Amino acid sequence: MKLDFTKYTNGLIPAIIQDNGTKTVLMLGYMNQEALDKTLETKKVTFFSRSKNRLWTKGEESGNFLELFSIQNDCDEDTLLIKVKPLGPTCHTGAATCWQEANESNFGFLSQLENVIQDRKNNSTKENSYVASLFEKGINKIAQKVGEEAVEVVIEAKDNDDSLFLNESADLLFHYLILLQAKGFKLDNVVEVLKERTR
Ligand code: AMP
Ligand code: ZN
Ligand code: ZN
Ligand code: ZN
Repeated sequence: MKLDFTKYTNGLIPAIIQDNGTKTVLMLGYMNQEALDKTLETKKVTFFSRSKNRLWTKGEESGNFLELFSIQNDCDEDTLLIKVKPLGPTCHTGAATCWQEANESNFGFLSQLENVIQDRKNNSTKENSYVASLFEKGINKIAQKVGEEAVEVVIEAKDNDDSLFLNESADLLFHYLILLQAKGFKLDNVVEVLKERTR
């Protein structure tokens, strides 16, 4: 990777840290060549801390490591975008991100919801989870449920109660995510098909 460490002060390059799942921007840190090498080697994001004046592996005390997913250079080789899987809250305050106001997109939330659904599928039973109970009933039952919710959306679309329409839409989307999961897919796979069509 070609990087201009001399462009700004003291051989440090800013690195924007983004949650690869939700696309939330988590924090910003600085890297020198050594920090970059260590990050690539250990797959745990390591910065050069300006306050500690040494290499700093995020999570070294808290255990909230940033597991490396990918590193991208920017247009003029002086800033990195690093996608990660955070193994806990990223900010030292205990918040998920260093920016107070949640900066995830609504689509990022959908991706988190997909992860919750997957977790219920793998780790819960019908006794403690509605989602798990649907998975236990099988694909046909889930697909039927999607059909029912779709009909409810159609009914509410003809009405003029916006709140009912939005609620049924949420039901539909939720059950559709479950159906996708039951078939082994995620929303991303559907979006890829849509993108392909615009090419
Ligand atoms: P950690 O790397 O999470 O074990 O945290 C070690 C120390 O680094 C903390 O006590 C904080 O002083 C500092 N620190 C942790 N997370 C951040 C962050 N997101 N931004 C700036 N400093 C941090
Ligand atoms: Zn740049
Ligand atoms: Zn912070
Ligand atoms: Zn409904």
